Amino acid sequence: MTFPSYLRNLFKLTRGNRDLASLVAVYYATMQCNLNCVYCEDFGSRRNGQVTQNPLLEDAKKILRVIRTGFSRLWITGGEPLAHPQIGELLAYARKELKFQEVSLITNGTLLSESLQVDKLERSNLSTFKPSNLFSLLNRLIISLDSIDLTALNSVSLPNAQAKTVIENIREAAKLQKSHGFKLSLNAVITPETLSSMDDLLNFCMENNIWLSLSPQSVNNLPHYDLVTSDEYRAFIEKVVALKKRGAPILGSYSYLKMLIDQTPYECFPTLAPRIMPDGWLAYPCRPMEKAGGEQGGLAVNLLNVKNWDEAWSNAQQRYGEAPTSCVSCFQQCYAEPSLMQAHPLEYLRERVHGVDLSTYAPG
Ligand code: SF4
Ligand code: SF4
Repeated sequence: MTFPSYLRNLFKLTRGNRDLASLVAVYYATMQCNLNCVYCEDFGSRRNGQVTQNPLLEDAKKILRVIRTGFSRLWITGGEPLAHPQIGELLAYARKELKFQEVSLITNGTLLSESLQVDKLERSNLSTFKPSNLFSLLNRLIISLDSIDLTALNSVSLPNAQAKTVIENIREAAKLQKSHGFKLSLNAVITPETLSSMDDLLNFCMENNIWLSLSPQSVNNLPHYDLVTSDEYRAFIEKVVALKKRGAPILGSYSYLKMLIDQTPYECFPTLAPRIMPDGWLAYPCRPMEKAGGEQGGLAVNLLNVKNWDEAWSNAQQRYGEAPTSCVSCFQQCYAEPSLMQAHPLEYLRERVHGVDLSTYAPG
């Protein structure tokens, strides 16, 4: 359970022990992607030939089984997870057979049309309608969309035809939230080019009952210089804070939103949300350090070679030691938010009152 683990972690921190329990697992179902976003530092179709290929379905299932021995909450991400040919089977396996209590999917939204079509057909037979498709397997669906302005989307390399499809898919998916029991949020990267259209995106979310989470474009793990020196950027984030106080669906703690403006260093606890690569390698202690290489991190252990999560974790710690005790090398939301919430219990409680748990903040 996440809340007791959260409390145990808090107790450990009061005693100066930073070896915290992980709370949510993030599995990169695939590194392949059908888009090529300008700011993507990991994946994108330009890298499809260089990145790890998808494992066999049976191996992917085994990886999920090992993850389940340590977690009840799972994020599936990519690349573009809906580009994985067996993503439906994997999600159904996670939810129905492994019985993860929470499953969240993060997607670029371009390939959702088929799932929406299946849902439409099912719903057309109202007498027997029971949601049984992709949407009903999820607790959270997170769609990446940086703007609703086609010119701004073009600037981050989303062509017009795909941009229109994504926006339409989002409108349709938003209508299914209640009947299918999932929450929809948009994950927007603010770039210097999309900044002026952020107000419209905010209004779009409020009109369609969608949560919005925001990250500044990152360059070498740090927020884009043109943003952090921009008055327009600061004014937008201040507006977001004011709207959140009035109840707008903003997925972001006040500490995080403040950090977006002033880059206050935060204490990072990277192991709260470990990342597992498609072929089962655990990126330890976090993806940025694993990518950087060196003594402190790397691909520590493959889940296909262990019996359970505890064994994987202990192997990783033996290989690279405990996670760093101080690091301000990046401001990535997916690491910063869980860390901030773990360190600020009052704010965490305030977020929980609004239905947002720590495991909500682990996309990417
Ligand atoms: S959709 Fe995601 S993974 Fe694909 S290129 Fe864009 S940011 Fe990268
Ligand atoms: S700040 Fe970034 S690089 Fe440093 S430990 Fe946290 S996630 Fe890893």
